[in-house]
Amino acid sequence: MQLFVPRENEPEEPRVALVPEAVQKLTGLGAEVVVEAGLGGGVSLADDRYAEAGAHVAGARGEALHAADLVLRVRKPPAEEVALLKSGAIHVSLLDPFNELDLVRALAAANVTAIGLEMLPRSTIAQKMDVLSSQASLAGYAAMIVAADNIDRIVPMMMTPAGTLKPLRVFVIGVGVGGLQAIATARRLGARVEAFDTRPAVEEQVQSLGAKFVKVDLGETGQTAQGYARELTPEQLAKQREVMAQHCAQADIVITTAQVFGKKAPLIVTTEMVNQMQPGSVIVDMAVESGGNAEPSQAGEIVEVNGVKVIGLRNLPGRVARHASEMFSNNLTNLLEHFWDKENKSFRLNLEDEILRHSVLTHAGKIVNESIAKLAQT
Ligand code: NAD
Repeated sequence: MQLFVPRENEPEEPRVALVPEAVQKLTGLGAEVVVEAGLGGGVSLADDRYAEAGAHVAGARGEALHAADLVLRVRKPPAEEVALLKSGAIHVSLLDPFNELDLVRALAAANVTAIGLEMLPRSTIAQKMDVLSSQASLAGYAAMIVAADNIDRIVPMMMTPAGTLKPLRVFVIGVGVGGLQAIATARRLGARVEAFDTRPAVEEQVQSLGAKFVKVDLGETGQTAQGYARELTPEQLAKQREVMAQHCAQADIVITTAQVFGKKAPLIVTTEMVNQMQPGSVIVDMAVESGGNAEPSQAGEIVEVNGVKVIGLRNLPGRVARHASEMFSNNLTNLLEHFWDKENKSFRLNLEDEILRHSVLTHAGKIVNESIAKLAQT
């Protein structure tokens, strides 16, 4: 079976789907691995490293795409490259399927089996393949580092003959995988941390990291069977904002990570709330790419509102691209190993399996994921 890893199309995407260690593992399983020349340029992994690990380094991307039985990428393929894929090929990447229905339709029409990595179930067995978690974790770390780098103060307490500096106050809104890592990083840097999430189950995790959980009585909030938050009603959201406003006003750094799976991120920090914050404070909006939690945030930019820096930088895991690639690559290798047929040296496409039942979006000319198929019909 021939695996191909093309270079990412987004010019600002330094991450790679496979690192050389993974190539060695996969060739050990009997796969033939081809990587596009220059693949690892953004993470200081030269072609030689891939070649030494057993990969064939290909210059002609179109040909390699057409020859591949399985294509691995970080991000979605560009629309014009779908037609280059071989009929019956498997394509594994993040696909953003709720927002990329045309692309999903094109993959189905090209008879490609597309695995959307964001659709992997959040189950114990799939944890080792879960790119959302591995990348969110690093994004949470990067968010806190970006915040620290953009504030004109140090984070920890410092007692010196020149005076005592108080530790900064960090407020984290949304405590999923990314929020937890933002809290942990803020604590390691010596901040006083508060956090809030609509899922009450998170309280204990927040406390175990040495942070304070902010309680808000929103009535029934709940979570889905997959462990995701449910969308709040407009009344609940208004109540949440009221309490968040007080905590934001006292914070030096606010990190927002709130997301509702498959939906636009909830707007939590309004411009009015930003206006009540201390000039010089910093907000990092980790949800900026799915609509944003902070009203003034702009994807890819740092904007200033009333002296408060609102940071909407994209691709936070890409700021620690080497580690992000290593983790992404481990996730993909675990996925491939899990379904590897040792005898036939190929990926066993068992569509009855719970992991593939969730994540295979197109197969045999059709959109096979129910929720995406429903959306694609409308
Ligand atoms: P996510 O990125 O979808 O959302 C981030 C956080 O935002 C979540 O904690 C969510 O509850 C919160 N949120 C949503 N609306 C909010 C609001 N209005 N105000 C404040 N917070 C709000 O979440 P995620 O990081 O992908 O994790 C979702 C869940 O899945 C978590 O419970 C996590 O522990 C669980 N999980 C399980 C596994 C596994 O078992 N394999 C793997 C990863 C994650």
